[in-house]
Amino acid sequence: MRSQPSILITGTPGVGKTTLCELVSAATGYPHYNVSQMAKDGNMLDGWDEEYQTHLLDELEPLVHPGGAIVDYHGCELFPKRWFDLVVVLCADNTVLYDRLSARGYTGKKLSDNVESEIMQVILQEAHESYDAEIILHLENDTTEQMEQNVQTISEWIAQYKLKHA
Ligand code: ADP
Ligand code: MN
Repeated sequence: MRSQPSILITGTPGVGKTTLCELVSAATGYPHYNVSQMAKDGNMLDGWDEEYQTHLLDELEPLVHPGGAIVDYHGCELFPKRWFDLVVVLCADNTVLYDRLSARGYTGKKLSDNVESEIMQVILQEAHESYDAEIILHLENDTTEQMEQNVQTISEWIAQYKLKHA
């Protein structure tokens, strides 16, 4: 039993995962592991291969499984179920997401595929296939007010968890 929870924050690119993770990390002191960034730093020039994924998961295991960690990734089925006490699926309105991804330089198929994936709730479905429904929290993240509310919701969830597992 972990006295501190580990939390996955997932969702389509652009929904605000990294921004939210940084705020939650600042509020809790839990380290934030940005898996895409770790993959980039790991010199993944040829993209995401099976061998690298195994290496990355081995590296994350001792950081995440003991508890008190925040993981940031635009997918959720690659992680072991036992790692997480809470899975936050962040979502955004499709026009908001379109604007954010355009501002990031996404165009054409890359842009439309991601917006469509958000409309189809692909990551939410993936979360439901990979984790128990009780630990999945689906949060809207269109505005700064919602972002603040989401930090509050997650911080309160962590406080409750710590009371129960003290
Ligand atoms: P992700 O990590 O999911 O790809 P980011 O955290 O990088 O998303 O956010 C994408 C962009 O959207 C950034 O420019 C960020 O400042 C902005 N953003 C994120 N969340 C919000 C929000 N709740 N309200 C307004 N802008 C946001
Ligand atoms: Mn990010």
